[in-house]
Amino acid sequence: MTDPADLTVTIVDGYVDEPAHFGVPPYISTYPRFTAGAVVDAGVPESNVVYHTIDELREDRQKWRDVADADLMIYIGGMTVPGKYVGGTPAEPDEVRELAWVAEGTALMGGPIRFGVGDENAGGQDMERKNLDYDFVAKGDIEAAAYDLVDSGLEGFGNRMRDNEELDRWAATGAFVVEQHPNHPDHLICEMETSRGCAYRCSFCTEPLYGNPAFRTADSVVKEVENLYNRGARHFRLGRQADILAFGGDGEAPNPDALRRLYGGIREVAPDLGTLHLDNVNPITIVGWPEKSREALRIIAEHNTAGDTAAFGLESADPVVQEENNLNVSADECFEAVKIVNEVAGWRPGDDPADAPTHGPDAANRLPKLLPGINLLHGLKGEREETFEHNKRFLQRVYDEGLMVRRINIRQVMAFDGTDMSDTGADIARDHKQLFKTYKKEVREEIDRPMLRRVAPAGTVLPNVHLEYHQDGRTFGRQLGTYPLLVGIPGERELGKTIDVAVVDHGYRSVTGVPYPLDFNEASMDELTAIPGIGRSTAGDIVVNRPYADAADVGVDADVTKYVQ
Ligand code: SF4
Repeated sequence: MTDPADLTVTIVDGYVDEPAHFGVPPYISTYPRFTAGAVVDAGVPESNVVYHTIDELREDRQKWRDVADADLMIYIGGMTVPGKYVGGTPAEPDEVRELAWVAEGTALMGGPIRFGVGDENAGGQDMERKNLDYDFVAKGDIEAAAYDLVDSGLEGFGNRMRDNEELDRWAATGAFVVEQHPNHPDHLICEMETSRGCAYRCSFCTEPLYGNPAFRTADSVVKEVENLYNRGARHFRLGRQADILAFGGDGEAPNPDALRRLYGGIREVAPDLGTLHLDNVNPITIVGWPEKSREALRIIAEHNTAGDTAAFGLESADPVVQEENNLNVSADECFEAVKIVNEVAGWRPGDDPADAPTHGPDAANRLPKLLPGINLLHGLKGEREETFEHNKRFLQRVYDEGLMVRRINIRQVMAFDGTDMSDTGADIARDHKQLFKTYKKEVREEIDRPMLRRVAPAGTVLPNVHLEYHQDGRTFGRQLGTYPLLVGIPGERELGKTIDVAVVDHGYRSVTGVPYPLDFNEASMDELTAIPGIGRSTAGDIVVNRPYADAADVGVDADVTKYVQ
C-alpha cells in the first residue's frame, strides 16, 4: 500500500459553472480547495499538492509534466450552465481525455461533470453522461473520493457524499491551494459554500439531486474565510447555496441570528476584504417570512460590499408554466420580494438606508448595496406564446413602479438526466427559438437599458475595474463580484491593471465609463467626447485651452463635476 506521505497529487481545474457555484476565473470554485484539503487530511503533505488551471496547461506545456508525473492526477470540471466566459475557457472533452492519457499515475475525475458534458453556450440542449478514459470517476463528492482513494493507497473508493465534519476540516485545510491560482491574489474571488441541496423540486434544476438543504455552521465558513484571507485572498462570494436567507434555519424560514454570525464573523476575520457578495435568494422565503427577511437583508446590506445582487429564480411569470414545472413563486410574490429588497437594501454607500431605494439626482454616486436579479428560463413545460408576454409585463411593472433590478438573466433550459425535464428535453426550447430571440431583444431594449440608467446613472463611480480585453479601440473590464457590470473605456489601456471608472453612458447590459477622477489636463479626445454634453468641438477647445488648475476652470456647459473628485 502506498503511504500517503509519499504521494504526489496534481489537481487540474477544468472549471465548473453551476447555477449556484461559479468556478471560471476570476472565480475559484470550492471543488479544488476542498479536494486539496481532503488529500492533505488523508496524509499527503501540502508541499506535494500541485494545482493548475486548464488555461495554465494550455499556455505552458511544461506544466503537463506535473500531470504526467503525479501519483494521482485529479481532474475537476463540468458545466451545467451555458455561457461565454472572459476570464478563462473551460476544458473541452478532448482536453479532458488527453489529461487521462498523459497521466502516468492514477487518474480520477469528478465535479459536476458527472451530470453530463455539454458544449459551451449551445443554448437549449439535452445533456448526456459520457465516460471519459479515467481510472476512476467520482459519482459522489470528488473530495470524498479523493480522500478515500488516498486513504486506500490508491486502491479504490466507494461513491459517497462527504459529511459536515469532513467538510469543516477539508474546507479550512484546503485554503492553501489558492496561492497556486494564476489570478492570486488580486484578481481572484473565492466562491464560498454555505449549504447545498434545496427544499423545493423545480423540474429543470440539479440542486435537489443533493437532497434537502445541508447548512454549514457559520463558524465553519468563517474559519475557511480566515484561512483563505491568511493565504492572501481578499474577495469572497457566498454563492454556493440555493437561498442565502435560509442559512442556518430549518431549510425554509430565515434565521437572522445565523446570518449575523456569518457576516459579522467574516468581517472580523477579514477586515480588509475587497469584495463580499452573494448569489441566490429564494423570493418565496421573503414573501413567506417578510419581517425576518427584512432583518436578514438589513444584516447583509450592513456587511456586504456595494453592487451585490440577490438573484431570484422566478423562471417564469406564466402561471401555466409555473404549475407544470413545480415553480414555487408567482409573479405577484416575486414582485413583492423585489420591492422588499429594494426597500431594505437598495441604498448606496453615502445614502441614508432609510431612504432606500435610492436613485435619481440626489442619490450617492455608488452602486446600491444589494438589489434583486431576475432569472427567467425558457423552454420549460407548458411554455406558449403568452409566456413571453407574461414575462415582459412582469419586468415592465417592476420598472414602472420605480424599483431597481440589477440584472435580468434570460436563458433557455438544459435538460439534465435525473431532473423532470429530461423527459421533455430541449424540444420546446428549440420550437420557440425565434420567439425567444425576438423577446430577448425587446427586453434588452425596453427594460434593460432604462433600468441600467436608473441603477448606475451617469457619474456613478465603479471602483477597481479590472481591465480584461481590447475590442474596437476600447478597453473592457469588470469589477470583481457577483454579476459585475461590463465597462467599456475609450482607448486601449494596459490590460491587467485596475482603475476606478465613472459611468458616462449605457448599453443594454454594459456601461461606458471614463477613468475616475478624470484629469482634464490629460484626458484623450475619446474620453472627453464620451462625457454627456461634450461633442468633438467642445472637447477640442478643452484640449487647446489646457492646462487647468481646477475642473471648474474647464468652462463648459456640461456638468463635469461628477467626473472629477
Ligand atoms: S428553488 Fe428550484 S431552482 Fe432554486 S435551487 Fe431549489 S429546486 Fe433549484
